[in-house]
Amino acid sequence: MAATAGRDKDKDETMNGTARFRARDRSSETLEFDYVVVGAGSAGCVLANRLSADGRHSVLLLEAGPKDNNLWIHVPLGYGRLFKEKTVNWMYQTEPEPGLDGRTIFQPRGKVLGGSSSINGLLYVRGQHEDYDRWRQHGNSGWGFDDVLPYFKKAENQERGADDFHGAGGPLPVSDLVHADPLSAAFIAAAGETGIPVNPDFNGASQEGAGFFQTTTRRGRRASTAVAYLRPARGRRNLQVETSALAQRILFDGHRADAIEFRQAGVLRTARARKEILVSSGAYNSPQLLQLSGVGPAELLRQHGIDVVLDAPGVGHDLQDHMQVRVVMRCTQSITLNDVVNSPVRRILAGARYAAFRKGPLTIAAGTSGAFFKTSPRLATPDIQIHFLPFSTDKMGERLHSFSGFSASVCQLRPESRGSLRIRSADPTMAPEIRINYLSTEVDRIANVEGLKVLRRILQAPALRPYVMQEVDPGAKVSTDEELLNYCRARGSTIYHPTSTCRMGSDPLAVVDQSLRVRGLEGLRVVDGSIMPDLVSGNTNAAIIMIAEKASDMILQDSR
Ligand SMILES: Cc1cc2nc3c(=O)[nH]c(=O)nc-3n(C[C@H](O)[C@H](O)[C@H](O)COP(=O)(O)OP(=O)(O)OC[C@H]3O[C@@H](n4cnc5c(N)ncnc54)[C@H](O)[C@@H]3O)c2cc1C
Repeated sequence: MAATAGRDKDKDETMNGTARFRARDRSSETLEFDYVVVGAGSAGCVLANRLSADGRHSVLLLEAGPKDNNLWIHVPLGYGRLFKEKTVNWMYQTEPEPGLDGRTIFQPRGKVLGGSSSINGLLYVRGQHEDYDRWRQHGNSGWGFDDVLPYFKKAENQERGADDFHGAGGPLPVSDLVHADPLSAAFIAAAGETGIPVNPDFNGASQEGAGFFQTTTRRGRRASTAVAYLRPARGRRNLQVETSALAQRILFDGHRADAIEFRQAGVLRTARARKEILVSSGAYNSPQLLQLSGVGPAELLRQHGIDVVLDAPGVGHDLQDHMQVRVVMRCTQSITLNDVVNSPVRRILAGARYAAFRKGPLTIAAGTSGAFFKTSPRLATPDIQIHFLPFSTDKMGERLHSFSGFSASVCQLRPESRGSLRIRSADPTMAPEIRINYLSTEVDRIANVEGLKVLRRILQAPALRPYVMQEVDPGAKVSTDEELLNYCRARGSTIYHPTSTCRMGSDPLAVVDQSLRVRGLEGLRVVDGSIMPDLVSGNTNAAIIMIAEKASDMILQDSR
């Protein structure tokens, strides 16, 4: 059972067991738990639930951000509002990106219970079977598609019911869209007219094709992992959740991770882990925390005066992300979300409809329909994903266009470009240096240009013709491959899927082994998007939840 040392009045920062939190100077004593989980994001909330479920182990979950009280978190379309909401968002920036005309690229990341699953676009796309088979082929036994499918199913509560590829009894609701709009359906028909078949289930036997996305929502509300996994576990006496608690350093006893030092309400506190520390701080903050703790490239650590616990050059290496580049269309009819948002009356009606029935445009996620296709016949599986949206904007998170508009973006699924994450200083409150190096390989440049050409063909197909007044961006002035590439450089940005900064593997740059233990250390695992050997060909939330489900099983097995 959790020790009750060093707590005082901070009820607000303590989600449960407040009765057990009384008195004494918080800084002077050490908390003690079996497991300390750092980060209550997509992965961390899964761990907190599963590890505390049988009541045998005490678990402390530390989260740098606040509780998920912001109302917009729970409204699907609210993700647009949270994009630049610094109370729940780390709001990182990359360094100037050489492949994107030297622009810095905004990187939102959730800083709140639920982490990025509380601010994300809600799309449920697992990636391709071949992604996981590739992980296994690279030496990660136990991570092939057949191995991970049971964990996708275990997590899932699929609205359509269980089948060979889906589970129906899990904590994570996966639902069909509740708002039917003619543009999103026309996109699927238009894709069909260009030879892309209809696919009713991107997470079924094959990903290829066009169709509607499913979302992690339940009855029109967001199902973050804080909602799906943490809430049901809240009442457990062996689970303690501390918010506004920034982990600053892992403390080591030799090569064994022993405790976490964290700052909460200005007080420095320490929590010991009798069994393990589980770092689930996301693809940017997990490598940052390891580096701050002396686990990382030795030259970088010394440069910042940090004692080297383990020279691990792979920590922060191999950063990968999905880029997106958007095509914007002016619509002939006032049926887009732009029209709703730009009309006070329609806005109020949409709000009322949502409040009364949980229906209407406020249930729209970061994509309604989409498509997966190959840009070359020599490819075995799709290399491009299209996200179609019945609205348009210059930049996500900014005002929608004043005209009736819709848009669709190209996302290359398996980029070859690799970047890095390095601390800038030993100060844990300082944002790390993020370099993604978008478009730094020829394969990536060609895929984006070819993807844009296919997307343009879809947008000009007969099924969409009644709705298209003109292409606004890139527009008629852009037609050659060179011009399209220049457009990618000028307008490309992230689709928010950074991974692989603490990669799983067995080569010298791999950070964790197949059980997600940090190689060369004891009592320490990384469990989140940073362990992906490489990016999955889809949106990353589902895969990360699967990773945490599988990790929970491995951790519990090891504890026997
Ligand atoms: C705007 C946006 C849109 C997205 N859209 C989609 C989508 O539609 N579908 C999809 O599948 N994926 C989407 N993603 C990606 C997906 O949500 C993330 O890949 C996933 O949530 C990451 O999970 P994680 O557990 O690795 O990290 P996170 O969920 O980011 O969790 C990390 C947690 O650790 C906390 N933390 C960090 N450092 C510390 C510290 N030092 N001490 C204590 N706590 C700390 C953070 O505050 C955070 O809560 C999107 C992401 C964003 C940002």
